[in-house]
Amino acid sequence: MIAIVKQTATTDQLEHFVQWIEARGYRTNVSQGDNETIVGIIGDTTKIDPFLLESMDIIEQVRRVSEPYKLANRKFHPEDTIVDCGHGVLIGGGHFQVMAGPCSVEGDNLIEIARAVKASGATILRGGAYKPRTSPYAYQGMGERGLDLLLEASAELDMPIVTEVMDPRDVQLFVDRGIDMMQIGARNAQNFNLLKEVGKTTTPVLLKRGLSGTIDELLMAAEYVMSEGNLNVILCERGIRTFETRTRNTFDVNAIPVLHHLTHLPVVGDPSHATGYTRYVKQAAFAATAAGADGLEIEVHNCPQEAWSDGAQALLPEAFDDAMRRIALIREAITADLG
Ligand code: PEP
Ligand code: MN
Repeated sequence: MIAIVKQTATTDQLEHFVQWIEARGYRTNVSQGDNETIVGIIGDTTKIDPFLLESMDIIEQVRRVSEPYKLANRKFHPEDTIVDCGHGVLIGGGHFQVMAGPCSVEGDNLIEIARAVKASGATILRGGAYKPRTSPYAYQGMGERGLDLLLEASAELDMPIVTEVMDPRDVQLFVDRGIDMMQIGARNAQNFNLLKEVGKTTTPVLLKRGLSGTIDELLMAAEYVMSEGNLNVILCERGIRTFETRTRNTFDVNAIPVLHHLTHLPVVGDPSHATGYTRYVKQAAFAATAAGADGLEIEVHNCPQEAWSDGAQALLPEAFDDAMRRIALIREAITADLG
């Protein structure tokens, strides 16, 4: 971290500032230029509040030169992390996986959708049993019965499942029931108690970007999970809120290569929530694949008009199948060895 000192600061004030920093266990490096004085603060500066320093009279500006996320940082862990999702399915480091299924678990149609997405090449079944809805009057999910249906489908098809956990008090239930992957939804991306609770388990966590979350906030959310011991974190770009109203969210495709640069964790794209409309989902899925995502999460429903949630963005199984064939071709193109 560096602190840029105002030109008006006196030698006494500068000395006092340096002593104040050093009294907190940091080393300093003062560099006096013609136009400005810079104090380098050396040590684990994650505990320093940059705003507190900036509030001091003699400080012009404070900048972090190293990121506050350590465990998720590629600098300290250059190789890609590969997460074992169960049932022999690996994600990251060249292993590309597609998670597909309905937004909500609704009943007997789950197994029908699951069979179809598996036949098209999906390797992880998704479905929400506990739903984070903007309105308390909207459908809230089947709860534990939904988990039963997911587990039955998982057993029949020998494929892992990913489903959202909303409440820290439910985490143990998910672990006891053997849920393969816990999803933290966009609305809970900064629910720090929930992040810490899933961090105490070893179950893979699919961590979605917050509704208006920055890339750094997503990485800090991952850091919360990892700092409790669970290193099996998969990040998900699912679109962010912008001024644009033609789509449900704005798909930040940039985030995929940016995250690959900053972190070793696998990154998946969710073109369903990113766009909000079935007619755009395929194209966004192609873009995420081409951008180097380690996987995709796509909502598929056998009868979108009847879906209990997010029918407007669901792909029919036939459209999903077509998308999967093209996604395989895009993967071939971007991983081809051109000599
Ligand atoms: C979902 O996956 O159905 C979901 C609610 O996603 P998000 O948290 O990204 O909105
Ligand atoms: Mn949904």
